[in-house]
Amino acid sequence: MFHINCRLAPFNGLYNIALPVRGNYSGQYSVFMDLLSSPCLAGNVLLLARKRFCSWKSHERFDLDGIFARDGVLYKSLGRGRRCFSKNTEASSSYANGTGENPYVPLNTKLSDARVIYAVAPAMGHNQESHPESHFRVPAIVQALDKLELTPKFRGSKVIELKDFKPATVDDITSVHTRSYVFGLEKAMDQASQDGLIFIEGSGPTYATIDTFQESLIAAGAGIALIDSVVAESKNSKDPPTGFALIRPPGHHAIPKGPMGFCVFGNIAIAARYAQRVHGLKRVFIIDFDVHHGNGTNDAFYEDPDIFFLSTHQDGSYPGTGKFDEVGHGDGEGTTLNLPLPGGSGDTAMRTVFDEVIVPCAQKFKPDIILVSAGYDAHVLDPLASLQFTTGTYYMLASNIQQLAKNICSGRCVFFLEGGYNLDSLSYSVADSFRAFLRESSLSSTFDNPAMLYEEPSAKVKQAIQRVKHIHSL
Ligand SMILES: [Zn+2]
Repeated sequence: MFHINCRLAPFNGLYNIALPVRGNYSGQYSVFMDLLSSPCLAGNVLLLARKRFCSWKSHERFDLDGIFARDGVLYKSLGRGRRCFSKNTEASSSYANGTGENPYVPLNTKLSDARVIYAVAPAMGHNQESHPESHFRVPAIVQALDKLELTPKFRGSKVIELKDFKPATVDDITSVHTRSYVFGLEKAMDQASQDGLIFIEGSGPTYATIDTFQESLIAAGAGIALIDSVVAESKNSKDPPTGFALIRPPGHHAIPKGPMGFCVFGNIAIAARYAQRVHGLKRVFIIDFDVHHGNGTNDAFYEDPDIFFLSTHQDGSYPGTGKFDEVGHGDGEGTTLNLPLPGGSGDTAMRTVFDEVIVPCAQKFKPDIILVSAGYDAHVLDPLASLQFTTGTYYMLASNIQQLAKNICSGRCVFFLEGGYNLDSLSYSVADSFRAFLRESSLSSTFDNPAMLYEEPSAKVKQAIQRVKHIHSL
């Protein structure tokens, strides 16, 4: 086993009280929930304090020279610090200039061998010192991919890194979010100076820096570009590569009217709308296995019969939504499935959920594409929650979801990074997901320590699964 040479620092005291109490997490954990569950005053962005924020150079602490050299070039070429994207109101589909060709999609000859295509958007300027949703997260994953020889350097055409992609446009973002939120956030950037940090009132512990607006556009743009590539190759092959957007800030808590729970723009929701609008993929199936309920995605599509949102999350965790009876509304009734799992649920629970809930649900819905909110904070080592997923659980999910997509929607499938705050378990689990996409054996026995695990609450899990199957007639 190797260790990435960085660790999550305490989160202004919050991290310490968020440490799960195994088997009885209701005490200290509820304190954390109280702190996080303040009502969301959407889009109300205030400059409340000034602190020094970690600049781009601060990631030298990581010793990642070489790995991010190319990415640094990408950032420079995108004009980091300039926020001019809202002036461009064209949708990202503007490449459709009559030729129908998207210059950002790798040539088909390159894609035909690929098993996985990924894009990296680490948002190095979006960082608050000691915050768990830190700019160390994506570099830690990239470093693990490199050490485990899962990058194009080692895998040739089997693994493609999509480097040239555009930031999302304001029109892309406003397919999910209100214009007042988007322009309000952009305006707030002007209030921050180079050493300023913006706190977003009422959004849980969500922060912004001078770079947040632009870097959030880049994150959403990476997801959109992966949709383009995967869809393009699905026209040539029955087995296109699986996409993985290694992006931040995450997105699934961001609601239409504002940011929330570390999330700025709903990257996956924006990509779902884009897939519909630009590629004519009418029916989108979203699987969200982050430990927290993806309330933002849930809300964006709650009345939409063409986008199925299926979320598994820890019962009682932030933000407190995602109950069994939240099943959609109006035309969308029945196309939202929420499965809160009891604390302590782990590998056995999730395997059963996959077989008995996710598969029949997806088969019944018959989607044109599957998108995945891939949160790695359900891992037993994650500091912010109390489920017991392992690296092996994430390998199983990656492998099975890829196969499911192949069976029901021509292999069209893109993963979006959401949570995951223990840098070791996050990076090993993403790396093992890549091995699953490559159809290579899991390295979970190297990473997972069975001594960490305790007995899953199997009776409660069974009850929860039966309940959701009954509600959704599965
Ligand atoms: Zn989460």
